[in-house]
Amino acid sequence: MTDKTLLKKGIILSLDKKVGNFMQADVLIDGTKIAAIGPNLTAEGAEAIDASNMIVMPGFIDSHRHVWEGILRNIGTDVPLEGDASYLAFILNTLAPVYRPEDAYVGDLVGLYGAIDAGITTILDWSHIQATREHGDAVIRALQESGIRAVFAYGYPWWKYPDENQDQWIRDIAKQYFSSKDQLLTFGLASPGPEFIPFEIAKSQWELARELGARLTVHVGVGTAGKRGKLGEMGKAGLLKDDTTYIHCTTLSDDEIQMIVDSGGTVSLASPVEMMMGHGMVPIQKCLDRGLRPSLSIDVETNVPNDMFTQMRSVIALQHALLFEKKLAGEGNVPEPLTTRDLIEFATIEGARANGLADKTGTLTPGKEADIIMLRTDKPNIFPINDPIGAVVWGMDTSNVDSVFVAGKALKRNGQLLGVDVNRLQQKAYECRDYVVSKSGFKLPQI
Ligand SMILES: [Zn+2]
Repeated sequence: MTDKTLLKKGIILSLDKKVGNFMQADVLIDGTKIAAIGPNLTAEGAEAIDASNMIVMPGFIDSHRHVWEGILRNIGTDVPLEGDASYLAFILNTLAPVYRPEDAYVGDLVGLYGAIDAGITTILDWSHIQATREHGDAVIRALQESGIRAVFAYGYPWWKYPDENQDQWIRDIAKQYFSSKDQLLTFGLASPGPEFIPFEIAKSQWELARELGARLTVHVGVGTAGKRGKLGEMGKAGLLKDDTTYIHCTTLSDDEIQMIVDSGGTVSLASPVEMMMGHGMVPIQKCLDRGLRPSLSIDVETNVPNDMFTQMRSVIALQHALLFEKKLAGEGNVPEPLTTRDLIEFATIEGARANGLADKTGTLTPGKEADIIMLRTDKPNIFPINDPIGAVVWGMDTSNVDSVFVAGKALKRNGQLLGVDVNRLQQKAYECRDYVVSKSGFKLPQI
């Protein structure tokens, strides 16, 4: 047995400017790490994998998803964020409160295996299903079993104020599961933020994250609530720091976005969700104008698909639509169009940065963890490959995801997830879905 693997003769998109990209080269994996990248590598005893019909690149990185919603896929495609019949009313206030730990576990497993299948190697699980201490254990078990790299962002429930023991549960979970930094799972804190809870509670949650040394992730600028200047109040109180990822930012004022930039925060855009559900205009240009490069996130599978191809295309298409509209109207000072290279970086490097993992993943760099995907170039939807980056961003879809490695371990090969009983998972998904739907009294959409 060797723990070396040599990916041979692939198109290599390292996305690391020092390493460069190659129309044909090899990647050597040694244990959990990338050992070397370049043409004609040799390694005694290494298992060789033919990558001659593959694009080899860093795994995609999702910087915000409520993974427990895996069993609620597509349940809210025709409802908006706000109102009587809405995501907030149905998902967070009707279905979430009846979730048992096992429903969160199965919901997470469904979402995580779907993510891996789609070439996502790192995910931030914005886990605001934490009604009891046991919900935390259940979700962490799913994250561990899946083999994905993840930030477990402990989330306070949104349908009620925190339990009186909640902060103690958080401290206990941080100690029990996250005392080592040298593991696939890292700890974060997910706070609803000042738009949804009183200032003092939000402040105490943010302070707890900092006490625990955890990165903070928070929804801001969300629809109507985002227009009330609440993030600005947090900023004026000196609470914005470089340990925080701000999600959506769709209805923030320009001053509030500038506060994020000035404090060194990162941003997560969930552009398909923001456009379809009424969060407000995706603030892509407001970020770019201030030199802030966003990460991308799927957010909710209740509404949108689970892959980063959709994410990349929605952001680049929207930014181009807006700027060409200006150009056609004869306006001056039209911004530069985003390129496919920008988008592939948002879906990898910027995700790693937002998740606090840029030293481990996000590029193919010798010494970093071997989080690698191989995308098939021999399928009728994509050959001939004339521009590999353009092909990934505009041409491919999840059917091209052949292989997925996390920390050197193969989780998907030859188009198939490894070690997953998909039939059993499907059965569990229906059982848990049936339970939460019937217990909550929610009516599934009729056809
Ligand atoms: Zn969200």
